[in-house]
Amino acid sequence: AHLDRIAAVDGELHAFLATDAEGSLAAARAIDERRSAGEQLGELAGVPLAIKDVLVTTDMPSTSGSKILEGYRSPFDATAVAKARAAGLVNIGKTNMDEFAMGSATENSAYGPTHNHWDPTRVPGGSGGGSAVAVGAFEAPLALGSDTGGSIRQPAALTGTVGAKPTYGGVSRYGAIALASSLDQIGPCARTVLDTALLHDVVAGHDWHDSTSLDFAWPSMAAAARSGADPASLRGLRVGVVKQLMIDGVQPGVKARFDEALALLEAQGAEIVEIDAPHFEYAVSAYYLILPAEASSNLAKYDSVRFGLRVTPEGGGTVEGVMSETRAAGFGAEVKRRIILGTYALSAGSYDAYYRSAQQVRTLIQRDFAAAFAQVDVIASPTAPTTAWTLGTHGGDPMQDYLNDATTIPANLAGIPGLSLPIGTASEDGLPVGLQLMAPAFEDARLYRAGAAIE
Ligand code: GLN
Repeated sequence: AHLDRIAAVDGELHAFLATDAEGSLAAARAIDERRSAGEQLGELAGVPLAIKDVLVTTDMPSTSGSKILEGYRSPFDATAVAKARAAGLVNIGKTNMDEFAMGSATENSAYGPTHNHWDPTRVPGGSGGGSAVAVGAFEAPLALGSDTGGSIRQPAALTGTVGAKPTYGGVSRYGAIALASSLDQIGPCARTVLDTALLHDVVAGHDWHDSTSLDFAWPSMAAAARSGADPASLRGLRVGVVKQLMIDGVQPGVKARFDEALALLEAQGAEIVEIDAPHFEYAVSAYYLILPAEASSNLAKYDSVRFGLRVTPEGGGTVEGVMSETRAAGFGAEVKRRIILGTYALSAGSYDAYYRSAQQVRTLIQRDFAAAFAQVDVIASPTAPTTAWTLGTHGGDPMQDYLNDATTIPANLAGIPGLSLPIGTASEDGLPVGLQLMAPAFEDARLYRAGAAIE
């Protein structure tokens, strides 16, 4: 049924970069056979899973949305994918994304944009617009994404779906094509909080392939979501609202839905507490130094020798010539912009002024969160300041994209978990609005409990 749905709508939506109907059906049949043979399989066995193309898989190409990896086949599965397969989930396709996960609209994909299923003239958010639309448009019940600065949560908000960024290290990054290693986090997307939690449980956990993955006995997120199904569980919950996250650019219809959500929380017995986080206003600036710095280092491996594309200049050329022509042809404008920014920020003369100060700001933001969580259980904000915009309208002005992440970036800088869930539509355009909840590190279950109660 999901393959039929993809065949019917994906020509217009372009949520997928690769599918393999026969391969997916064969994998699903194999699960059926195991079940018929009496094997006890998990809750998600046989359920189709859409996989953001940032995660490498052996059964389909993995491009991270870039021409430089066109047709690339990985010899191994990312750990999150391997865990999903072990639980019986079936890969139904690789989803579209901004090139190397750099963007907020999926317009930076080298393979063309994904369209929002609410209105195909609108963007789905990014970088994981493909995964969000795949679940939102019923092309898949579950999807995996990656969140470095908001790429799971912001597309969830713009498409009326649910997405979670786990605590940093909660899910292995092994086999996730790296953007910024200290910020990257793999996480689940779905249409409900419980579905998101079920997928979270499958992919979470320590992995010796990723030294930053946490060796921690995670509680069941699904159990937390189920216990939150009763709104009475909100009684006594202290909810922080950070002044600095209610930025000037918040669209009136988004603000109205957010205020309504707070009023409903209060009506259920939650306590709303205003929080001052003075360093949050520097989060976007710090992020756009740290991310390009780490990305420029991570992307150095695309040298025309080890992976994907190779462009040879006329007459053969030198090693440098081949590398330079390959990168000129293989990387898109946003990727080049960030590589240049990052190498500059890391250069001897600017390191202290830019990279080091950005890391200091990061520490101050972590301290703001620590002070906030001494007063409240969760922090709530609009996931994104606006609803989905019209395709092409940010073209040429990356700042507009960057600022759409002002509300999601602080969680990545601090390594804490965040969850976005739909809270209705904005009156001015009828498009979905997301509520973001954040909790201290390791407290992902708290988000699922509160999220399920609000949902
Ligand atoms: N939009 C942000 C960026 O362009 C977030 C990206 C992400 O989370 N992968 O960097």
